[in-house]
Amino acid sequence: MRRIHRALAVSLALLMLLAACAAGPIAPAADPDTPAASTPAEPLPADDPAEAPPADGAAEDAPPEALPADDPTDAAAAGSGFSIRFLDVGQADAALVTCGDAHMLVDGGNREDSSRIYTVLTDAGIGYLDYVVCTHAHEDHAGGLPGALRAAAVGTLLAPVAEADNEPFTDLTEAAAAQGVAVTVPEADAVYPLGDASFQVLGPRRAYDDANDTSLVLMVTYGDTRFLLTGDMESGAEGDLLDDGCDLAADVLKVGHHGSGTSTSYAFLRAVMPEAAVISVGAGNDYGHPSDDVLSRLRDAGSRVWRTDLQGDIVASSDGATVTVTAARNETAATNPTVPPETDAAYIGNTRSHKFHRPDCASLPEEQNRTYFADRASAVAAGYEPCGRCEP
Ligand SMILES: [Zn+2]
Ligand SMILES: [Zn+2]
Repeated sequence: MRRIHRALAVSLALLMLLAACAAGPIAPAADPDTPAASTPAEPLPADDPAEAPPADGAAEDAPPEALPADDPTDAAAAGSGFSIRFLDVGQADAALVTCGDAHMLVDGGNREDSSRIYTVLTDAGIGYLDYVVCTHAHEDHAGGLPGALRAAAVGTLLAPVAEADNEPFTDLTEAAAAQGVAVTVPEADAVYPLGDASFQVLGPRRAYDDANDTSLVLMVTYGDTRFLLTGDMESGAEGDLLDDGCDLAADVLKVGHHGSGTSTSYAFLRAVMPEAAVISVGAGNDYGHPSDDVLSRLRDAGSRVWRTDLQGDIVASSDGATVTVTAARNETAATNPTVPPETDAAYIGNTRSHKFHRPDCASLPEEQNRTYFADRASAVAAGYEPCGRCEP
């Protein structure tokens, strides 16, 4: 499945050497000198050939296939274990990235999610977060992060700005300051280690007025598998990543801006071509997310869609070669309406009206506005109300 990307990578290798964004064939994930848990991480010296790990130097003479990420003996493939848990925080984002004993929390949901974030970390026994990332200074990303800082000490706090005129963000920076941690505003292309994995800050690559476009865009790499986290980046910033020749191919895409039609442009999606697309979105939200346009583009890209509004927490795990995605509930739900359900659905929901019906109801929605539920409880949990006509 990754072969297509690999072939692309090979053919683009020369271009990448010249492109600003090609700072890295991502530096080898396994770094025996990975900082101890109590030490804030420094970005890997991906841009400096003089300091680059030996494997990077070798890459100049070797075809891209020989890079460490492709080596089956790569430490990542040996298996410290890697997962990203996309937390169901309603109309918001929060993702916990774990590689062995290393942890990174990317966004923390809204303020009201603070206690959920706290509980997730304490239940998992995570008392130290190597990184906390606030993709941008909006409440639905920064709001719950103080809960993380109550549960865990933080090594490095990454954000696109050091300060913002925004109370949730100020609460976050104050909670970090109480731990003696200041905001690190990373350079584009910086690469940071995360256990046997690593992540590269692909964006933002320009200054933007719109906070969504300032979102930190992270390509997380574990062995041969890649995960693209985009915050609320919209199509303008997506275009800048493309213009700069960034290698965007990924197995899993966290779909930008909760599935808004202003993100996930065709050109961007063509460069990513994810097997799995995760939409972090609230049931019955006021914005009409995810947009039909984005769902349609994802169908065209052949990506399997996973949705926190319908499926709860979604976990993408990797052994360094293969990605497996699971959901807390409703795993076989038709998450992208015109894709037929994998099982005989007991109830059919209308994604516009958020009513659900029996399959024999006379007022079923148009095909493209349907979503399917295996049982009544799932429909109710997704925020759908029973149709007054068929009374499911
Ligand atoms: Zn936003
Ligand atoms: Zn958002």
